[in-house]
Amino acid sequence: SLERVIVTLRITVIGTGYLGATHAACMAELGFDVLGVDIDERKIEQLAAGQLPFHEPGLPELLKKHTASGKLRFTTSFEEAGAWGDVHFIGVGTPQKPGGYGADIRYVDAAALSLAQHITKDALIVGKSTVPVGTARRLACLVQEKHTGPGTIRFAWNPEFLREGFAVKNTISPDRLVIGIEDRDLDAEAILREVYASQLAAETPMIFTDYETAELVKVAANAFLATKISFINAFSEVTEFVGGDIRTLADAIGHDARIGRRFLNAGVGFGGGCLPKDIRALQARVSELGLDRTMRFLTEVDEINLRRRDRVVALTEEILGRLNGATVGILGVAFKPDSDDVRDSPALDVAARLFNAGANVNVYDPQGNANAAKRFPRLNYVDSVPAAVRDAHVVILLTEWQEFKNLHPEDLNGLVANKIIIDGRNVLNVQEWEDADWTIAALGRKFEPSRE
Ligand code: NAD
Repeated sequence: SLERVIVTLRITVIGTGYLGATHAACMAELGFDVLGVDIDERKIEQLAAGQLPFHEPGLPELLKKHTASGKLRFTTSFEEAGAWGDVHFIGVGTPQKPGGYGADIRYVDAAALSLAQHITKDALIVGKSTVPVGTARRLACLVQEKHTGPGTIRFAWNPEFLREGFAVKNTISPDRLVIGIEDRDLDAEAILREVYASQLAAETPMIFTDYETAELVKVAANAFLATKISFINAFSEVTEFVGGDIRTLADAIGHDARIGRRFLNAGVGFGGGCLPKDIRALQARVSELGLDRTMRFLTEVDEINLRRRDRVVALTEEILGRLNGATVGILGVAFKPDSDDVRDSPALDVAARLFNAGANVNVYDPQGNANAAKRFPRLNYVDSVPAAVRDAHVVILLTEWQEFKNLHPEDLNGLVANKIIIDGRNVLNVQEWEDADWTIAALGRKFEPSRE
């Protein structure tokens, strides 16, 4: 069992979204007493009742177990949190600013301020949200300024690297822990070594550094991953033009250990609540600092990524002749598999654009339908692959759920109007579909209808 016998630290987690709810439940699983805090009353009610408001494998079980045992509680009261907690993690949202590229850090500021005003004993505040470089140092000062109660507040920044779909595993056994602290703040370091004792025992690399490095590690990692995806997708634009096989290209360069095969999957591109906004926020932040050219390559990374969505729409139109009145079966609407998250989802974007061009769009996602329906209610959301592809003039696979990777032509034969499929994630066996008389178009492959 992961539980430790002697537990002293009381942990609060401010913000109980994807990051915070996961962190809170995992900290309880590691043996700590945990209090989750959010300003969203409905979310707190649901969580307190042991119900997870989003999809994340393995998390509902932990939430049920520890809300039942009493190790994990939820509140909307900062007063309660400030009086109770020894370590306060901040995991509130840092979305893209409306109308700009920068990150909207008002929620982080508000959370830090609320803590400062309500902490009444020695405590460590640990920022986890993804923030523009400079935020931690500013907040560390702000917190000292606004704290008038008894006790000393220490401040650290510990960016989160979890991936949705693997969030529990990534939290219990992260690849590394990065912690920014004030120069020689050995107390903060000691407390965090205790919080992460089980990870340390498992030999997780734990990197103590300054605030700025810690903040930058997070955005550097995301910028690198986004660049890797857009790198292969740029080559897709070439192979679509000259012919060639993007998957073989990725496999071949991926054998070079310096490059590596992961994150080289050509397709409709990245999305979600992190990569797109994080590369934009990084550009905005370095520009603010006067380094206008430094991250300009990320503009290209972003544009290559968004052009993939254009490509799917254009390919659909090219195949069908016209979009108006066509019936399209969309498989997948979450931004990636094993998630119900549709924030900046390439799949939802493509589906919405086909709809806006006059197509009848049927959508099926194993988990994402409900969130997608909130954002774009006018699509026809259905609850199975057969319902999505029925009478479709074209089927478009946009999220690589295992259920879709396992599809075979015979699963769809007899349902569709045309045997045409667009593989937006390069996960289907082209030969198999062609042998079954399907027209299959994939991103990164030249589409030659005349060959049919
Ligand atoms: P989210 O939108 O799912 O959750 C944010 C939560 O914060 C919401 O429940 C909101 O009600 C709450 N909140 C806002 N202001 C608050 C306040 N003043 N006090 C208390 N709660 C408040 O967002 P998320 O996906 O969990 O992301 C949170 C942060 O973690 C972001 O900075 C994000 O970039 C970062 N991050 C996310 C992931 C991920 O996979 N989702 C991974 C790594 C890092």
